[in-house]
Amino acid sequence: MGEQNVTEVMDAYEPFENMVPEEFRFTNDAIHTMQINVGYKCNLACKHCHLQCGPNRTEMMSRETMQACLDAWDIGDFTSMDITGGAPEMHPDYEWFLSEVHKRGIKPMCRTNLTILLEPEYEKFAQIYADIDALVVASLPNYSPKNCDKIRGYGVFEKSIEALKKLNALGFGTGEHTIMLVYNPAGAMLAPDQAQMEAEYKRHLGPEYGVEFDSLIAICNNPSGRFADRLAKRGNLGKYMDKLTGAFNVATCEGMMCRDQISIDWQGKVYDCDFNQALGLELEDGKTIFDFAKEKPAKRHVVFGNHCYGCTAGAGSSCGGATA
Ligand code: SF4
Ligand code: SF4
Repeated sequence: MGEQNVTEVMDAYEPFENMVPEEFRFTNDAIHTMQINVGYKCNLACKHCHLQCGPNRTEMMSRETMQACLDAWDIGDFTSMDITGGAPEMHPDYEWFLSEVHKRGIKPMCRTNLTILLEPEYEKFAQIYADIDALVVASLPNYSPKNCDKIRGYGVFEKSIEALKKLNALGFGTGEHTIMLVYNPAGAMLAPDQAQMEAEYKRHLGPEYGVEFDSLIAICNNPSGRFADRLAKRGNLGKYMDKLTGAFNVATCEGMMCRDQISIDWQGKVYDCDFNQALGLELEDGKTIFDFAKEKPAKRHVVFGNHCYGCTAGAGSSCGGATA
């Protein structure tokens, strides 16, 4: 099949919003999750990365914007802080930011691609995560070295295992601190059953590599960014959208992550989620984190698009895994 046009393919489906029951087209009254993307620089350049992160990206959140995130936390109803990137460890102010977060008694969710924790400049973050008792959310897209490397690049699996052992030695996954792994399908497939996948990872990573972890979340590849472009280039985007729309499950709508969060980009712009961030779909009223540093986010209408079918197929998908 020939190359497809992303917009043409996506627009051929029933507008997602029409599928969502009226009451779930809006957020909750209070917003509890603050997701902060500190920048797009990453030591890897994975094929499924919807934010198209990589070593050549230079976008980084300023300290002033980080401070606005902290100010918004202080006056808001937030209970969960989710820090992501890129590889957040590569941000020059990350250590400072984590210390400010820790001072506030927040137990942040720190996303990591694991391999960065082996780089001499950034290896200190494994200890920092232990010191602040962060919830480490580590992407390991597959327990098979071949499938993992296919997505992330040659040698990534081996390095990830080494980093996991380092985290285990610091108490992550062994009872003292918590580590969650993140599974992504290798391509245009729906995410399998999360509990079953967790059991499979445990069966492989423990006996074969001596690695321990607390739990696993399965995330569906969202049809946006680099992933959508790659599928379209190979003529497979339509097929993937057929799968996602065919598996639409209305029971997942109530738990869509956009209903309880804001996603902040490196410039302080705010989105309903990081997929909307990837597509440049800002909040409907254009409010930024500088506004939320002065007033709490109020209930709002979510900006949907047909990439949203990636969140509602089967058991649903979010940055926290299945939603139904
Ligand atoms: S998916 Fe994660 S590790 Fe891979 S390039 Fe994107 S930010 Fe980096
Ligand atoms: S892609 Fe974002 S806005 Fe759309 S349903 Fe998922 S979380 Fe909500």
